[in-house]
Amino acid sequence: MELLKERIRKDGVIKEGNVLKVDSFLNHQMDIALINEMGKEFRRLFPDKSINKILTIEASGIGIACITAQYFNCPVVFAKKTQSINIDGEVYSTQIKSFTHDVIVKKAFLSPEDNILIIDDFLANGCALLGLIDIVKHAGAKIAGAGIVIEKGCQCGGELVRSQGIRVESLAIIDSMD
Ligand code: 5GP
Repeated sequence: MELLKERIRKDGVIKEGNVLKVDSFLNHQMDIALINEMGKEFRRLFPDKSINKILTIEASGIGIACITAQYFNCPVVFAKKTQSINIDGEVYSTQIKSFTHDVIVKKAFLSPEDNILIIDDFLANGCALLGLIDIVKHAGAKIAGAGIVIEKGCQCGGELVRSQGIRVESLAIIDSMD
């Protein structure tokens, strides 16, 4: 997505440890017009009419998923990083490396009839995405694919997930931080 690539070149900041900061337009301050274009692009990339739910993870994925969901006319479910007192009933839970708590989704919100599109802001080592995939598999639902805003091609996550036969579409792939 050329608009996004231009914006990363203009406003992205590389930090120590190969971290790309895009908090001026994506995951702190959010450029809604740009994210709206991302939503349209995800719809173009995943035209499958049977997609009936979007799954993401708090916090940064939520806004992107919500705007995208308007192009799919479907609800968004987000995995929660902490056990919340608001959650009653049974949950699917999975461990994600580097997260202090398991992430959870209430069982009532995912079912074997669902065809799920996973949306997230970054794909690096793939831990977050693999955790979401694990939850969908536990629910017995179908995975239509994963729509990622920025994939760090220099890290192994994309390859790991694609090698499982899961379609991953990234709007921008960063091959090196130089
Ligand atoms: P993973 O390694 O599991 O694929 O990435 C986990 C999470 O770390 C992503 O969802 C994202 O929130 C964050 N992350 C990974 N690499 C970067 C980066 O270069 N910049 C930013 N802003 N977040 C990142």
